[in-house]
Amino acid sequence: MSYNNLQSNHSKRVTMNNLISLLTAIVGPGYIFSSNEQVAEYNLGTFPHKNNNKIVIKPANTAQVQQIVKTINQYNLSNDDANFSISTVSSGKNWGYSAQEPSFDNAILMKLSRIKELTNYDNKQGTITLTPGVTQQDLYDYLQEQGGKFWMDATGSSPECSIIGNTMERGFGHTEYGDHFNNVCSFEVILADGSIINTGFKQFSKNGVVPVAADCYKWGIGPYIDGLFSQSNFGIVTKMTLWLMPKPEHFEAFFISIKDEDKIADLIDALQPLKLNGIIKSSAHIGNDHKAIQALSFYPWKKAKNQTPLPESIKNTLKKKFMVNAWSVSGAFYGTKAEVKVWKKILKQAIKDVTTDIKFIDQSTLSLAIKLKGVLSLFTGIDFNTNIPLLEKVFRLKQGIPTNYFIPSTYWRKKTPPKTIDGLDPTQDNVGLLWLAPIAPIDGQHVKKMVKIINAIQIKYGYEPGLSITLLTERTLDCVVSLVFDRDIEGEDVKALACHDEMFESLTNEGYFPYRLSSHAHEAYNKIDSSLIPQLKKIKHAIDEQNTLSPDKYGI
Ligand SMILES: Cc1cc2nc3c(=O)[nH]c(=O)nc-3n(C[C@H](O)[C@H](O)[C@H](O)COP(=O)(O)OP(=O)(O)OC[C@H]3O[C@@H](n4cnc5c(N)ncnc54)[C@H](O)[C@@H]3O)c2cc1C
Repeated sequence: MSYNNLQSNHSKRVTMNNLISLLTAIVGPGYIFSSNEQVAEYNLGTFPHKNNNKIVIKPANTAQVQQIVKTINQYNLSNDDANFSISTVSSGKNWGYSAQEPSFDNAILMKLSRIKELTNYDNKQGTITLTPGVTQQDLYDYLQEQGGKFWMDATGSSPECSIIGNTMERGFGHTEYGDHFNNVCSFEVILADGSIINTGFKQFSKNGVVPVAADCYKWGIGPYIDGLFSQSNFGIVTKMTLWLMPKPEHFEAFFISIKDEDKIADLIDALQPLKLNGIIKSSAHIGNDHKAIQALSFYPWKKAKNQTPLPESIKNTLKKKFMVNAWSVSGAFYGTKAEVKVWKKILKQAIKDVTTDIKFIDQSTLSLAIKLKGVLSLFTGIDFNTNIPLLEKVFRLKQGIPTNYFIPSTYWRKKTPPKTIDGLDPTQDNVGLLWLAPIAPIDGQHVKKMVKIINAIQIKYGYEPGLSITLLTERTLDCVVSLVFDRDIEGEDVKALACHDEMFESLTNEGYFPYRLSSHAHEAYNKIDSSLIPQLKKIKHAIDEQNTLSPDKYGI
């Protein structure tokens, strides 16, 4: 290393140490980490990534977030050789898309998990205001404490995931409120210069009077800009109003199966009008056999004699053992008893030419199944002891009850299955997981085409194509492709990324673009033409000239 390089490294360290002193004064010494050992766990991931965090800071409240942003921004402005940027996560469990890795190198990771506040619960309108540290479990517990008049929507990820974190990535769950970004309003946002803004009606006040409908009405007056803060780097959301679902008079889940995998297009087309006309309001999920097997067991390395992908004969044995079909739909009806009765009849009629395998499950049927699972297993040879708990968790998710039941499915390819479910963190166990989630209109032919592309590529690379198709909105479905591998096996990282890239390329070539990006997919995404991104970059430059907040995130 030359003398000049040594000098510049030295001055960088001095600059960084100065900044750390200023930040420590804001949060206190217990909430800022900068040694390699301390920061290492925040740089773990479920697939290789290029960029790393250098410093981690955990503010206790919004005022501290504001001070941190201001301090870093001003530090950059007043020091010619300083260039520090913040990457924000709420709970940092965006497993399979990113963990806590930044979109740029040498980041200051700001983790907002300490900021937990649930306020303004309106038990008439079903609205509540929350901060980034509020997790699915926190919200569920709070609503139960309030009497359970309203239900939340939960994802299949950890109960410890942040509601705001998921919403900012436009994630989705299972109920009628499953499209998360659709059911929020009135953000409080901190911008790169440290200023605070509110969106929607909450931006206004007249002599101290705020619009009375601020938590109920999305659009406010003037431009609607909430979307600018999702999947972006324009600001840090520190508060958000969430809309809740009234607990229905009657709830019934439905489960539909088909044995013939080629009938998926017919099944989608049979469900499509019901989604469009509002008979099916929940986000119905349609999983393939691999997805179900991965939720019910771990890779049978011994039986498969270490061969991958899963041999067809073993797959068929597992399907029999757990009573798994080629495709299984799960959804739910929320309404009065009379309404649900009518909707059940309409659904049965709509799918009758495709399949008659449809089951409606209410609480009493579920309780009976749980009670009888042992006896049923004994007399049928089917492992109901394993598949009824899965049914139960899916049923509960449709009632907005978070669970960590599905996290072990990401350990499918590990040679040693996890010993416990509680507190599982796939990044700590070198689990390989990479999602790719293309969107299409609800149309059987599109699904057929996507499935064909995905299956061919995943099998070619030696993986089992685990697919979950969600009827997300009235008109669109989302096909979540899971690429599950074991990072402890040499060569798997490289192979999995190549498999992902080929799927990304082939799917986007046919018009199937993802609804959300993993940190790995950013590179391929940046090669796609956009008429908007150049203009978004201009806005970014205008409000964050120093690039203080997450440079390059989503290409901005
Ligand atoms: C088994 C399994 C099942 C899963 N099921 C689902 C599912 O059903 N639905 C689903 O959507 N996902 C699912 N996921 C993916 C993921 O775990 C969840 O989406 C999770 O909620 C995201 O992580 P988080 O809540 O910790 O968000 P974070 O990691 O905190 O945030 C995610 C991203 O949002 C942005 N962000 C976070 N906070 C803020 C803020 N305050 N202001 C501005 N931007 C911010 C940042 O870019 C951040 O990287 C699943 C994952 C696994 C492993």
